[in-house]
Amino acid sequence: MKAVVVLSGGQDSATALAMCVSRHGADRVAAITFGYGQSHALEMKYARALARRFAISRHKVLRMGFMQDISESALFRRGSRISRRPGAKCPNTVVEGRNAFFLLAASVWAKTLGAGEVWIGVSEADFSGYPDCREGFLRSMERSVRLALDYGVKFVAPFMHKTKAEEWRIAERLGVLDIVEKETLTCYRGVPGRGCGKCPACRLRRRGYEEFLAARQ
Ligand SMILES: [Zn+2]
Repeated sequence: MKAVVVLSGGQDSATALAMCVSRHGADRVAAITFGYGQSHALEMKYARALARRFAISRHKVLRMGFMQDISESALFRRGSRISRRPGAKCPNTVVEGRNAFFLLAASVWAKTLGAGEVWIGVSEADFSGYPDCREGFLRSMERSVRLALDYGVKFVAPFMHKTKAEEWRIAERLGVLDIVEKETLTCYRGVPGRGCGKCPACRLRRRGYEEFLAARQ
């Protein structure tokens, strides 16, 4: 095994998985999905289908329900209103420490499998203010995990400095545009594919897609 990809079932992680598979081959890539009480457990269904689509035989779904016991997020409850408190750095869709938990668990599995890379589809460019999507956090976490495990794992975040439009372009180049467009779930309200069109995740995705189409003409 070469890499473990954190696979949420959305646009970013699906495109990251496609990139990783094109680099290493499906039989050398594993995927891990986390259930942390998303109101739309549908995400996990999409992640499973994507793993099958990309012929990933080693796909693990890990339950992290404890995150709901220690924090609050609009993503934990179906139908929650998405908002940003005045002065808050990020909207109430933030799941505190999510990527830190994900990266540690994915790295532990990577070590078990003998894989040297952990891939994650986070981006600093289309930043919602989530602190654990930033490059500074990622590199610091990488150092900590190497020390914690005494294992030279490398974190690969191919979209860290890419916009959604650039991500769509990569998907097209890899020949997976259709899969990413129709078989992923990014919407906060749990509407697959193009989504509800209204929530912040859908608006970001749509804007990126339109930019991508405009640049293609
Ligand atoms: Zn939506």
